[in-house]
This record gives sequence, structure tokens and C-alpha cells, in this order.
Amino acid sequence: MASSEAYDVVIVGAGHGGAAAAAALRQRGFAGSVALIGDEPDLPYERPPLSKDYLLGERAFERMLIRPAAFWAERAITLRLGERVERVDAVARRLDLGGRSIGYGSLIWATGGAPRRLSCSGHDLAGVHMVRTRADVDRLIGELPRVDTVAIVGGGYIGLEAAAVLRTCGKQVTLVEQQDRLLARVAGTTLSHFYAKAHRARGVTLRLGAEVACIEERDGASAGVRLADGAMLTAQMVIVGIGIVPAVAPLRDAGAAGDNGVTVDAYCRTSLPHVYAIGDCAAHINRFADGALIRLESVQNATDQATIVARHLTGAPEPYDAVPWFWSHQYDLKLQTVGLAIGHDEEIVRGDPATGRFSVIYRRTGRVIALDCVNAARDFVKGRALVLAGATTDADTLRDPSVAL
Ligand SMILES: Cc1cc2nc3c(=O)[nH]c(=O)nc-3n(C[C@H](O)[C@H](O)[C@H](O)COP(=O)(O)OP(=O)(O)OC[C@H]3O[C@@H](n4cnc5c(N)ncnc54)[C@H](O)[C@@H]3O)c2cc1C
Repeated sequence: MASSEAYDVVIVGAGHGGAAAAAALRQRGFAGSVALIGDEPDLPYERPPLSKDYLLGERAFERMLIRPAAFWAERAITLRLGERVERVDAVARRLDLGGRSIGYGSLIWATGGAPRRLSCSGHDLAGVHMVRTRADVDRLIGELPRVDTVAIVGGGYIGLEAAAVLRTCGKQVTLVEQQDRLLARVAGTTLSHFYAKAHRARGVTLRLGAEVACIEERDGASAGVRLADGAMLTAQMVIVGIGIVPAVAPLRDAGAAGDNGVTVDAYCRTSLPHVYAIGDCAAHINRFADGALIRLESVQNATDQATIVARHLTGAPEPYDAVPWFWSHQYDLKLQTVGLAIGHDEEIVRGDPATGRFSVIYRRTGRVIALDCVNAARDFVKGRALVLAGATTDADTLRDPSVAL
């Protein structure tokens, strides 16, 4: 496996974090050699449209590229697409790409995660889909014309966005969620009930508190979802959106510390020398999560952590301390969230959910920790300052939409 190919910085994973890290290095004047390695064949692209307007057929793939093709060449960033890093040798500082070896000065691990699969029988039948990559979604889109009934497993953002798109396309959609409410992992009950009502009003059937027993087969393909209570949800297509498993095996095998992903410090350094990790796969202590060690799965987190690493590598270190934010589009409902609702003990509803325009303000021990804003962009913008300050504004003021936040 002898090879002299080596780069000052190698970035593994050409998604949001990897692309942002390469761009940020050059923007900050980094003059060394940079390689960006990704196992998908496409130029780095935005993932959020995959469950939104790309799935709906309203956005061309070219309009999802993070940067145009020429950007990378102009900045002397070597793209190695369609190649997968299988092993990391952190002592020799070399990567094994399935027989080819590449050396690195510093390594940035930005591999995101693989969609979590159901473990029951039938999980791998034809007609069972995930929504993580362009290839996943192209496969799904290819089958859609032959499909009338769809079952979606998972009532998180990706499942709900897919439900909204497919309902908009006129499909019969049933969504199965194990918890007794939607978005249980990330939001409070007001938002969960609002989205349940919104989806039901548009014709989606929700099965909450329901466990999947298996995917039933007919003629080698999925025939629908069998629930643990025996009910059968007939569906020609099944979409599974139950989270991701961080793609960190090569790095963990090389000795990087971590349990849920790879653990990083405030500069995104792993426990291995000269190795950083960013984005969905990087577990970090986050003060907006009350100091818990968490992974964030958002574009904001991936791009902000990319900047932190670029700063560190260009001699201007700054610890990661960004306010988390996120968005989700379902039907005509634009949700923007800021902060993390983890551990909240109070929900203050600002505006009337029945109007389709309102915010939920989350507090913990009297301090504002997060906002979910539905069609309320101004609250989102102002709310950021409240979260940053841990504001203790009284509840009546927060609740009153006639008083600016
Ligand atoms: C359908 C969908 C909708 C989303 N919507 C939103 C949204 O509305 N708002 C929001 O903030 N976030 C959204 N997200 C989340 C957001 O896209 C992720 O948080 C973000 O992409 C994380 O960036 P990343 O660089 O960590 O990983 P990714 O962007 O996933 O990039 C990782 C890349 O590394 C590659 N890779 C993995 N292992 C290897 C290896 N060993 N060798 C080479 N390459 C490898 C992967 O194939 C992938 O291309 C959405 C995600 C999905 C899937």
C-alpha cells in the first residue's frame, strides 16, 4: 500500500461540515494542501431539501450544490469523490481508502451518520426507503409514480417533512410513531399537538404510541407495516426516519474516545493527536444543553464547528459556543427553532396556534432556553438574544404578541 500521496489537511466527509471546513480554511488564508474525501459521487450538496422541495420535485439538484464546481478547483481543494475511508492510522497519520493510502498532517472527520435501520424482519425489502442522501431520494422518487399508499416510520422532522410532501403529492400517508406524541425528542407538547393537528387536518393518519413489529412481504417487496398490536398498515412504500448512527467506526477503531459518536473538546479536537471531528458525528459539551455532552444534527452546528477547526488550524483558536438553531418546512408552516428545549420546565405560548402563527418559549428555572417559532420569523430573530442572555423576562410579557420580544 505504498504511496507518497499526502496533504497538509485531509477532510473526510464531503457534506455540510466537510465542505464548510475546506472553504473556511481557504477563506482564512490557509496555504497548505487540502483534500476533501467523500463517499458520495456528487459535489458537496445541501441535505435539507432532500425531504422538502427536492422530494417535491420543485428544486433541481444543481440548485442544491453548496458551491459551484469551479469553486473547489479555483481554491486548489482536491476533491476525491466516490471514495471511502476504511481505516485510520493515527500514529503514521495515514488513511486507507480500500487499498490506497493517503497521508495527512491534520485530519478533519466530518462523516455525519448513516440512517438508523429498523431491526425487525422485512427492514431491507424492496420498497423500504431512507432519506439521507441524494441517491436515497432519487430511488424513492423513481418509485413514487407506482405508489398510492405510504407508511412513514418515525415522527421526527424528517418523517414529518416527508409526510407533508407525499400528502401534497396526493398519496395516502400513515405515520407511525413509537412515542405518544410527535417530535417528542426535540420539542414540548404544544408543538407536538400543533403538528399532529396540522397533519391530520391535511389527511395524514397518525398512529402514535405504536410499535412496528415487522415489514410484511408480498412478492419480494414491502406490503406494509405490521404493528405490535397486530394491526396491518397496508403500504406500497415504507419510509424509515428514525435517526442516524454516527459514521465513526474507522476513527473509533483508531482509538478515538467516544460513545455516542466521537467526543471532541471546545476546539473540536478528538482524543487523537491532529484529528478533529465536526458536525453530526461530534459529541461536545454544549452550554445550551445545560452542559450535557450531546451531538447536534443541524447545518448550523456542522458549519459553525467547521469554522472552529479552520480557526484552530490557522492560529486563531476560539472555542465553540454557538447558539443552536434549526428549521423545518411542512406544508405552509415554516418552523424556526433557536436554543435547545432539553430539560425545560415551562412552555409559554405566544400567539394563537389556531392561526398557524405562534411561538413557544421554553424556560428552565425561570430562564429562557429555547424558542420554537411557527411562521413567526421576528420572534426567532429576537429570541436568539433572549436565549443567549438566559433572559428572565416575566411570563406575561413573553406571552403577549403585542409586546416585541
Ligand atoms: C433529509 C434531511 C433533511 C434535513 N433538514 C435539515 C434542516 O431543515 N435544517 C437543518 O439544520 N438540518 C437539516 N438536516 C440535518 C443536516 O443536513 C445535517 O445536520 C448536516 O448535513 C450535517 O453535516 P455533516 O457534515 O456532519 O454530515 P453530512 O452532511 O451527512 O456529510 C457527511 C458525508 O460524509 C460521507 N461519509 C461518511 N463516512 C465516510 C467515509 N468513511 N469516507 C468518506 N465519506 C464518508 C457521507 O456519505 C456524507 O456524504 C437534514 C438532514 C436530512 C438527511
